[in-house]
Amino acid sequence: MNFVGIGYDVHRLVEGRKLILGGIEIPHSRGLDGHSDADVLTHAIADALLGAAGEKDIGHYFPNTDPSIQGIDSQEILARVQAILATKQLAIVNIDCSLIAEAPKIGPHLQAMRARLSQTLQIPPRRIGVKATTNEGLGFIGKGEGIAAMAVASIQQVEARLPEEPRIA
Ligand code: MG
Repeated sequence: MNFVGIGYDVHRLVEGRKLILGGIEIPHSRGLDGHSDADVLTHAIADALLGAAGEKDIGHYFPNTDPSIQGIDSQEILARVQAILATKQLAIVNIDCSLIAEAPKIGPHLQAMRARLSQTLQIPPRRIGVKATTNEGLGFIGKGEGIAAMAVASIQQVEARLPEEPRIA
C-alpha cells in the first residue's frame, strides 16, 4: 500500500541569520527567521512525510513554543519524523520538492542539498528530487521578503519482519 503527502512552508528573510536550505548553509546577506534553523525546504519535506502517514503536522510535533528545540538542526527534525513513520512500518518511496526563492541562486547548491537529505534519511539520492525556481519578481518572494518551499512524498507500508523460525535439521 502506498500513500502520498504534500507539504508547504514559508519563512521570512531577515538580517543576522544563517541561510540553511536542505541542510546546507548557503552564503547570503540574510537568513531565514524561525524557532529552529528555519530550513524551509526540510520543513516542507517533513510535513509531506507526516501528511502521507496520516499524522498531525510539523507544528504539532515541533511547536515553536518548545524551548528544548530552539535552534534545532532541521535534519534532526527530519530524522525524528522518519522515526515516527518507522514505528508504523512506513518507509519512504520517494520525495520531490521545490524551493521558491528570488535570491541567492540556488542551482549551484541543489546537489549538495540532495546529498545531505539522502544522508539524513538513508535513502539513495535518486529517490529525492530537489528543484528551485524564482517567483519572477512577483509578490513577497519576488521582493526577497521570504523563501517558500513545497514538497510531495510517497511512502509505503512495509511488512513487519517476523522472527525467524528455528530451522529443523
Ligand atoms: Mg517552517
